[in-house]
Amino acid sequence: MDPLAYIERNQARMVERLQHMVRLPTTNPPGRNYQEMVGWLSRCCTELGMKVAIHRVADSTVEAEGADPSFPRLNLLARWDVGAPRTVHFNAHYDVVPAAGNWRMGGAFEAKVSAGWLYGRGSGDMKGSIAALLAAIEALVMTRSTPAFNMECSFTADEETGGRLGAGHIVREGLVNADYAVVCEGASATKVGLGHNGVLWLEVRIRGKSAHASSPDQGVNAFEAMAGLVHYLRPLKKGLAASSRRYRDFTGQVRNPTVNIGGVFKGSGQKVNTVPGDAIFTVDRRIPPNESLAHAEAELRRAIGKAADRVPRIRYTVRPILKIDPCVMDAEHALPRALARSVRHVRRGATGFRVTAGFTDLHYFIEDGGMPGIGYGVGGQRVHGTDERVRVRELVQTARTYAHFMLRDI
Ligand SMILES: [Zn+2]
Repeated sequence: MDPLAYIERNQARMVERLQHMVRLPTTNPPGRNYQEMVGWLSRCCTELGMKVAIHRVADSTVEAEGADPSFPRLNLLARWDVGAPRTVHFNAHYDVVPAAGNWRMGGAFEAKVSAGWLYGRGSGDMKGSIAALLAAIEALVMTRSTPAFNMECSFTADEETGGRLGAGHIVREGLVNADYAVVCEGASATKVGLGHNGVLWLEVRIRGKSAHASSPDQGVNAFEAMAGLVHYLRPLKKGLAASSRRYRDFTGQVRNPTVNIGGVFKGSGQKVNTVPGDAIFTVDRRIPPNESLAHAEAELRRAIGKAADRVPRIRYTVRPILKIDPCVMDAEHALPRALARSVRHVRRGATGFRVTAGFTDLHYFIEDGGMPGIGYGVGGQRVHGTDERVRVRELVQTARTYAHFMLRDI
């Protein structure tokens, strides 16, 4: 039987697998049920004949990243070697963001199916893609079809908190042994993902000196200093919005680098009658693929320094809290073209490429791993929101796209 027809005929099994995964709430933070999830995925891959290895991140590394080591960070690698000259790595994260709000379609972790949709946290982001990937591999195995390249899969932790202990960790540790990477999210349906924006989060802390409000001259007001600093940062915003800094992606859409100041701001001033001795604010800088993270950080630190020069007596420190490289692939490269061919075959429509504003784990493979990589997976709705859902048909089509792609050389 043709593997694509096999997927169609056995879709109930894919739905069951996804339901099982949604019912294991791998909520991150803090990183619950990773052990159960990875154990189950490991059994699935073993049943499919793959060689499986589970890697636990050292507690000291988990702590160094500011995560709670009482929740173990586990990453799974599975290989299917067919003696092909090249290897393609498929990556998916299995953690999900916490669920809040009132879910109309059962609870967030019930995985109800209704009118062709499967509901639940992670159904779209991105356990649906894991189910589609497993279904594609199963279809090849059961129809005795050999993939055109060796298959390497990873199911990783912590993408929702930056991925450094998940995809970042396996790339850093040299556990990825492949020529190309497909991250199973970042674009869907008729689009193939070629990259994403980068992000830089900084925390700026102003140190003053607290004193009683009856004699404010004895203190140094950190809140006033912060207000001054933020005020003098305004030219930065204008500069980033300039047309010379525009980035045009493959859909022809243009975007500029952006900055958001004060997503978090807080301080020691909790009493009306005290001079605040401490103030903190954050900066969120988005980095299009025509800039580098290092450049953006240097520019931002320079701007903060210049603004601080205008605030008398200010003392401050700057600390990075998240750094994600932007990444982008050439649309003419054989890898995106091969996937686009499979998308066209299955979806029967014109395909396009996209570079997303939000980030995925793709940059770890492209920037740190130095390998060509693309993003493609199941497209869900209300991702990160209440009533997150995915169409069963969408699962089937994505699985068929993966299977078609696996059978053709790049
Ligand atoms: Zn995701």
